[in-house]
Amino acid sequence: MNQTFYDLLTRAVGTEGVKIGLDAAPYLREWRGAFMPEALAVVRPSSIEAVSAVVQACARYDVKIIAQSGNTGLVGGSAASDPESHVIVNLERMNQIRGVDPADNTMTVESGVVLADAKSAAAESGRYFPLSLASGDQCRIGGNLATNAGGLNVLCYGTMRNLTLGLEVVLADGQVWSSLSPLRKDNSGFDLRDLFIGSEGALGIITAATLKLVYPERQRATALCAVAAPADALAITETLIDRSGGQVVACELMANQAVQLVREYIAADELRITTDCEWYVLLELASSANGGDLPSLLDEVLNAALNDQAALAYTIADTPEQRAVQWRLRESIPAAQRAAGASIKHDIALPISRMPAFLDQALPAMNRLLPGVRPCPFGHLGDGNIHFNLTRPPQSDDAAFIAQSELVHRVVHDMVVEMGGSIAAEHGIGRLKVTDLGHYKSQGEIAMTRAVKQALDPGNRLNPGVIVDLETSQNTTG
Ligand SMILES: Cc1cc2nc3c(=O)[nH]c(=O)nc-3n(C[C@H](O)[C@H](O)[C@H](O)COP(=O)(O)OP(=O)(O)OC[C@H]3O[C@@H](n4cnc5c(N)ncnc54)[C@H](O)[C@@H]3O)c2cc1C
Repeated sequence: MNQTFYDLLTRAVGTEGVKIGLDAAPYLREWRGAFMPEALAVVRPSSIEAVSAVVQACARYDVKIIAQSGNTGLVGGSAASDPESHVIVNLERMNQIRGVDPADNTMTVESGVVLADAKSAAAESGRYFPLSLASGDQCRIGGNLATNAGGLNVLCYGTMRNLTLGLEVVLADGQVWSSLSPLRKDNSGFDLRDLFIGSEGALGIITAATLKLVYPERQRATALCAVAAPADALAITETLIDRSGGQVVACELMANQAVQLVREYIAADELRITTDCEWYVLLELASSANGGDLPSLLDEVLNAALNDQAALAYTIADTPEQRAVQWRLRESIPAAQRAAGASIKHDIALPISRMPAFLDQALPAMNRLLPGVRPCPFGHLGDGNIHFNLTRPPQSDDAAFIAQSELVHRVVHDMVVEMGGSIAAEHGIGRLKVTDLGHYKSQGEIAMTRAVKQALDPGNRLNPGVIVDLETSQNTTG
């Protein structure tokens, strides 16, 4: 590395803040193993001034910046890819809770704060920060913002965008834009904040945010329900939303195949539900109200569904331990799939009402295309987002199966787009889906995307190759 550049970096972040060679290895991993990250260095600033100085140094030496927070992203967004000209700027040392304000129901935190720690800080002040992901112990607020994370409770609380009021961002030239506003209403011009949320490190480096808090959930009821078809799960959820006055916080669909993989590879059989069926749905109600009886309401609705044959069987979690078992089943699916061999994965969104039709169409199509495949669709049915994952046939070979990814993605994504859906529901585009973005977005959308990138990062220095790359014609529609 150029000595003057190295000196500028160490002046900004201290020698312990710059990692090179073997010391950088822990930051050069990619969750799914789809990319082999490489970088000149990993730089770990601990203040906004340091982030700004690093960005200015990189601009001076024409070095590209790959922002990284918890590195749990699933589309290769924080995977640097050039050992000569990419520097990872990891935000883990920007980990201060700047303040929790119960009067305004807000919390201002730096982007390196781990999601679980942000939730704990809110709880200590008698409030609740509702974003919940299975990666909550590792992902950080900066990554949650940059991916507009969704997760388990979008049905009730929305995505990270819905939970954010203000931002602090270091721009591509090192300038700081600070708008850590607690305002709920502010129509004074374009909404610049919304440009950076979901921008995957390609428009600026988010250093802090003011987030919305709500009152804590004081009662909960959770049930695992066996159903014959996703349409039944949706019908039960609609009734529950109606009967509870909108207190359904989670509606997670699981294909029986996915549940069987968890039983085989992760947990033998902790569940008290035995019915063999095609689908399960995990339902959760929660309320900040004192009083009321959510478990009874849940029981009443599910019992009526049983009588109507919408539900085949159900079990309500009577204790926190039983609730944890039900959630462990849902959250263990990715690990069980990994243990069962290679998977071809899709993170898709559809209008909620169209999800049953999509599954009815897509599952037989996959069985025809990939004989013996083990489809494991699971996820956030309640907000129209399913991880349409396909695990390879038991006797086949990982590499041969993965070699068919491009064809399978095209078939699945064509169906999704045809039904008015999205090919990137909550994980983003990253490096993984740049070509797909170009294929499915209109020319006008791609042109606007490139214009925004050009305006905010004319040197193409921030996460080049993610979402859009000004130096190539990637994302031209085709
Ligand atoms: C087990 C598991 C479960 C998951 N479940 C969900 C889920 O339910 N819902 C969901 O939405 N996601 C889920 N994810 C994906 C992932 O956890 C989220 O995308 C998360 O928001 C990423 O946060 P991170 O801190 O790890 O970001 P990183 O992986 O570090 O970065 C993600 C992207 O954001 C950019 N970025 C990171 N920090 C900044 C910053 N400060 N400023 C600008 N850009 C930045 C990076 O360049 C990259 O493009 C899951 C992942 C795992 C491993």
